[in-house]
Amino acid sequence: MSAIFSGSAARRRYWGKRNKHRKLRLDDFHIKQTLGTGACGRVHLAQSKFNKKHYAIKTLNKHEVVRKKQVDHTNNEFTILRDMYHPFLVTLWDAFQDDCHLFMVMDYVPGGELFRELRRQKKFSQEAVRFYAAEVILALEYLHANEIIYRDLKPENILLDERGHVKLTDFGFAKRVPTYTYTVCGTPDYLAPEMIRSQGYTLAVDWWSLGVLIYEMLVGKPPFADTNPVNLYEKILDCRIDWPDGFDPVIMDLLLGLLTPNVAQRYRGTNNDGYRDIKQHPWFASIDFDLVFRRQVMPPYIPSVMNDGDSACFAKYKEIGHPYGAHHHSSPPFTDQHRSKFPAF
Ligand code: AMP
Repeated sequence: MSAIFSGSAARRRYWGKRNKHRKLRLDDFHIKQTLGTGACGRVHLAQSKFNKKHYAIKTLNKHEVVRKKQVDHTNNEFTILRDMYHPFLVTLWDAFQDDCHLFMVMDYVPGGELFRELRRQKKFSQEAVRFYAAEVILALEYLHANEIIYRDLKPENILLDERGHVKLTDFGFAKRVPTYTYTVCGTPDYLAPEMIRSQGYTLAVDWWSLGVLIYEMLVGKPPFADTNPVNLYEKILDCRIDWPDGFDPVIMDLLLGLLTPNVAQRYRGTNNDGYRDIKQHPWFASIDFDLVFRRQVMPPYIPSVMNDGDSACFAKYKEIGHPYGAHHHSSPPFTDQHRSKFPAF
């Protein structure tokens, strides 16, 4: 099916051309306001001084990345996203570093986080959920076909482009995994039981998270919630889901197929191993996945974006001045001990 395609040829062509030019650097951009924050830095709107287009630049404080033991995750984030090319994944153009920070230059996705729209509307209609789920399924299938686990599916990491189509961002936990892996990471509400048990897990954790996401989009809150993490993990391990009254049995059947602790029984995307293909479930009967892939299905909500650098769809953040490149003129001279830990940048 054309829904899984290899964009690596397009990517190779781009990097072939790109490598004839010098690496980008901070001075090539006007850094503008903050679009979002993460554990080790923030994402800024930025305008290229050359083509005047807007980009999103993710900045990470190297010291924080090292302190929080995120060096491997951060190198993975760049090397994985660099090789990916898909309509529902954010495009990464380049990465570089200065003495204190790492920078990743991505296409700017102006429609904001699906999270913000979900909180605004409280919950989505089944049609809207089907649309977002279908685009996310194709993105996950593409990643999995490339043996990559995403590990952080949640509405905050799903951005909407100017037409209302999905772009997954934040590959900070993505990892190339042909078989099993062990690190517990992600967002507590979205963790699969086999990850919590720390006995090794596979790509199937992303399909569990898709179940959590679909439920949250339909109901307005995640299926497992507790302020105490121990109670939360117990609920996930026992698969104790709160079903609202009158919940549609067709979608409940789909969710039970995703939110099943039995990994062998869990729905997932297309593959040849005889697993249940989520796209064949009756809840998706009205969806033509080839049209979805071509972005020809009409999005349920069109963000109001007036021009290329419009950031009206993003929350406002307290700005911290412009701390980048700050140590260049310090005395005594500042030594960057971390540069070699980030060979990808
Ligand atoms: P991250 O640290 O990668 O999770 O990014 C934090 C936040 O920055 C996201 O939740 C978005 O709100 C925003 N963001 C990240 N990447 C982009 C992008 N390419 N375009 C627009 N906003 C982005």
